Amino acid sequence: MGNTHILGHVHIVQTDRHATVTAEEVFFAAHLAGFSAVHITPHYRDPNHPEAHPTDRLLWEVDRQEQLRHIAQRFGVKVHIGVELDILPVFDQGSNGVTGFVLDGPLPDTTLSPVIVACHFTAVLWHKKSDGEQSPAQRTEQMMVAYQQVLESPGIRINVIGHPFRHGGDVSPSQLFQLAQIAAMHDVAIELNVNQILEGDNRLLAPATLDALRMSGVAIYIGTDIHTRENLHFCDAAMGIKDLLLRTIPRGQIIN
Ligand SMILES: [Zn+2]
Ligand SMILES: [Zn+2]
Repeated sequence: MGNTHILGHVHIVQTDRHATVTAEEVFFAAHLAGFSAVHITPHYRDPNHPEAHPTDRLLWEVDRQEQLRHIAQRFGVKVHIGVELDILPVFDQGSNGVTGFVLDGPLPDTTLSPVIVACHFTAVLWHKKSDGEQSPAQRTEQMMVAYQQVLESPGIRINVIGHPFRHGGDVSPSQLFQLAQIAAMHDVAIELNVNQILEGDNRLLAPATLDALRMSGVAIYIGTDIHTRENLHFCDAAMGIKDLLLRTIPRGQIIN
């Protein structure tokens, strides 16, 4: 990916139940903002409907992917189709406690790229079971364990840890450094999520965070998490964030 501008982590109405922006709108905005390619990364399982079975997704149909490539071509960009996979807690039937973490799946198509893995379990069904009673510090600790277990388990090739600690509590620079080191060891990138940043999560661009990322040598992925037409200005924001990163982070460390 290197020095090309790829618009990372996008959800569109054609592939995500809860997205409302169209491929056409995203490709046009991406082109205007100076991107040459777009990563469409549908949720494998809808975070608002975690109980729904994911295999009815049209995403996996080759025809659907071809259709998107044709639309992208009209707007002068390339499209890569990946996926956003959930990290799911495993519950102990008896105590109702969390005993570990696994990736959702199985993935029907391993050619999907990039594969983004992320914790959404606070926002959904899992909330009731896992972290209703947790303090922010405990939630952060639990997420750290989740990331580590998933990265260390063999199986699916993972490219990016999506919006780290988004639904967590307080994250210290040392925890971020620890995560960055583990990710770097497994050749997995860490996402700087534009949606999360513009929602007010300033931790990700704090000098201490950027130091931790630089020192670990971890690959950095700038993802927008665009879902709606109102989110389209994230294209420009992503470019701005990249410029900002380049002041302190070597170009080669930023992968899109
Ligand atoms: Zn997500
Ligand atoms: Zn997303």
